[in-house]
Amino acid sequence: METVATAVAEGKLPGRVWIYSNTHCNLSCNYCMTESSPRAKRRAMSQERMVTIGREAKELGFTALGVTGGEPFLLPWLIPTLLELSDLLPVVVLTNGTLFNKKLLAATAVLADRDLKVQISLDRPDPVRNDISRSTGNFHAVTSAVRELTASGVTVRIASTMARDRAEELPRLKQLVQDLGVLPEDHIIRPMVQRGRAHERGVGTPVGEGDLSGELTITAEGAFWSAFGPSVRGGRTDTDLLLCRTTQPLNLAASTLLSLHGSMPRGHDAQLGIR
Ligand code: SF4
Repeated sequence: METVATAVAEGKLPGRVWIYSNTHCNLSCNYCMTESSPRAKRRAMSQERMVTIGREAKELGFTALGVTGGEPFLLPWLIPTLLELSDLLPVVVLTNGTLFNKKLLAATAVLADRDLKVQISLDRPDPVRNDISRSTGNFHAVTSAVRELTASGVTVRIASTMARDRAEELPRLKQLVQDLGVLPEDHIIRPMVQRGRAHERGVGTPVGEGDLSGELTITAEGAFWSAFGPSVRGGRTDTDLLLCRTTQPLNLAASTLLSLHGSMPRGHDAQLGIR
């Protein structure tokens, strides 16, 4: 039987394992797929649990880790956890970039020179339009955080979630990213996915299993086909992309994902280029 390590090494299975550290957030963006907000259910993972997932992922042959939420930097144990995870495998941690005051910037400096990238959301090149979806002052806070983190030696990526009718903004967005000192290969542009609040509002691109890259995603509630899987509607987590409820040991969830990959036509997993 094919192992996870072999499937990853041969490129049949994506190498990254996503960990949902929590689902609450200091923002409440109007397209958020996890219905995150300061009042949302936390569904948080402990430092020990996250590191165990990272350790098992490495043992199974996965080659990278991702940490997402919610807003991961709301967890007091996030930075020590990131240090432990990046001792195991390369890490990318997603953040809205609005919490980086002087104290957090000083604490985050230990992530410099690690095999770790901080991925910050910045959707639009115009402050007023950007802030409509995210929050007042978001553009200023995010661009400031990118500059400060980069200056402290932390590697930054920028992720832009685009609605379908915004192609004309793309050149200015790319120029802004370049002006912020972020490399073009570290600028991720992805379509708005019609899940969570975006689904409630009828905006974004409808997606199913065949449109999303099958990357093992672990939350406090189970294992999912994709990081876009554990979306929330009406306070309940969607289960259409649930692989299994059992995530300990990780091998069970990984094997389930692998068998599903084997049953799908090659190339079927990235029709929309959503990563
Ligand atoms: S989209 Fe991101 S930043 Fe906005 S509410 Fe959701 S988790 Fe928070």
